[in-house]
Amino acid sequence: MKLIIASNNAHKLTEMKAILAPFFDDVQSMREAGIEHETVEDGKTFMENAVKKARELAEISGCCAIADDSGLCVDALGGAPGVYSARHSGVHGDDKANNRKLLKELEGTNDRGAHYTCAIALVWPDGRLLTAEDYLYGEIAHDERGSNGFGYDPLFLLPERGLRTAEISPEEKNRISHRGKALRQLVEKLKSSEI
Ligand code: IMP
Repeated sequence: MKLIIASNNAHKLTEMKAILAPFFDDVQSMREAGIEHETVEDGKTFMENAVKKARELAEISGCCAIADDSGLCVDALGGAPGVYSARHSGVHGDDKANNRKLLKELEGTNDRGAHYTCAIALVWPDGRLLTAEDYLYGEIAHDERGSNGFGYDPLFLLPERGLRTAEISPEEKNRISHRGKALRQLVEKLKSSEI
């Protein structure tokens, strides 16, 4: 059975391909599979969006499909930006503007707790579904530091390390991150499932 990954992000593709290859005859990105499709991400939760993306791709392709959805949830903002993380400032994918807006919203508060969430869904063409969700807990710092990672990483402080997620190596980030942990959790379920 072929697996198609609902992403064209090179970093995600490399990581997912390496981990999932042993379970499928072939693992391809949407581009490699010649599929152009954009799911409207209108779910209220990360999992709703991940399942929707994977289901649509499995239906279109007739293959297995995997999709993830992730974002940042800030305690003092009642869990925002959440599923709107990529477009918090109003412009999709403008990391600088998103970070600026977040700092402004947290001005004057010492309640800095936050976590990243990643939800992953794997769907078979007959509708069977396997899911996993995991988290990375930390704090929102008062300024930006580091140049690794992406998105909110220059602001996301790992208190026990005294470092931002933008200051650790990609390997270490993968070991501790919401995405890395959710993916490994999914693989454990895949290994032990009857599917
Ligand atoms: P997506 O699930 O890849 O579309 O990510 C949604 C948005 O959440 C990104 O654009 C970032 O703003 C934020 N985000 C998700 N994961 C991370 C992370 O590991 N570091 C920094 N920002 C992240």
